[in-house]
Amino acid sequence: MVKAEDVHKSFGSLQVLKGIDLEVASGEVFCLIGPSGSGKSTFLRCINHLEKINAGRLYVDGDLVGYRQQGDRLHELRDHEVARKRRDIGMVFQRFNLFPHMTAVENIMEAPVQVKGMNKGAARERAAQLLERVGLADKAGSYPSQLSGGQQQRVAIARALAMDPKLMLFDEPTSALDPELVGDVLDVMRDLAETGMTMIVVTHEMGFAREVGDSLVFMDGGVVVESGRPRDVLTDPQHERTQSFLSKVL
Ligand code: ATP
Ligand code: MG
Repeated sequence: MVKAEDVHKSFGSLQVLKGIDLEVASGEVFCLIGPSGSGKSTFLRCINHLEKINAGRLYVDGDLVGYRQQGDRLHELRDHEVARKRRDIGMVFQRFNLFPHMTAVENIMEAPVQVKGMNKGAARERAAQLLERVGLADKAGSYPSQLSGGQQQRVAIARALAMDPKLMLFDEPTSALDPELVGDVLDVMRDLAETGMTMIVVTHEMGFAREVGDSLVFMDGGVVVESGRPRDVLTDPQHERTQSFLSKVL
């Protein structure tokens, strides 16, 4: 579903991604861990067309991200082409970014109505189903300010799912939450994983990575240092940098 080949990304003279190679299979839960500044968010943003890579190749579902290949030349995608591709990718951020002036159900309906042209009745019905799925059927009419952080984050997940993405990206979805709210959000993610959704999850929740993850990658300094089955990487890390990182977070 996602393939990175020697992906490089710099901001000015700062090299952030220094040759990322990895592959995420369809239906896989792929966890990404690493110290602050190692490039995890940048990598997710590249997958989701929020940043353009400088070198290498990045594919989502077999298509190059950001470019179209004609013969042996690459052409940058136009804005409307990028927008179309981005529809297929759902992203959930650390800070819940719901529209504050819209209720939960309106937040979820917004993109299907505005972007896909879905009729409002159908979109509302679908939004209600999604709210039920994330355990918030009774909060349809609540505004974000009336919801806890964990509830807001579950609405954000429902909102991403409303576009029927083929890939979901999570960037530390529970890091900003009070500890007692983390479990509900992880439960929703676990249920989603069970439906076969392809998920890339940047997280500090090693329990989630171990139980739900199919693969785990440890990134440091813009490269993949170590990868494997979560259980193996977490219990028997091979590299000194992985060992040192895990000793601080476990
Ligand atoms: P954290 O765990 O703290 O979220 P991260 O692994 O997600 O860290 P990134 O956010 O990808 O790290 O940042 C990697 C590096 O790139 C950092 O040094 C950051 O300052 C830099 N960086 C990220 N975005 C930009 C930008 N738009 N302009 C300039 N530098 C940036
Ligand atoms: Mg980050």
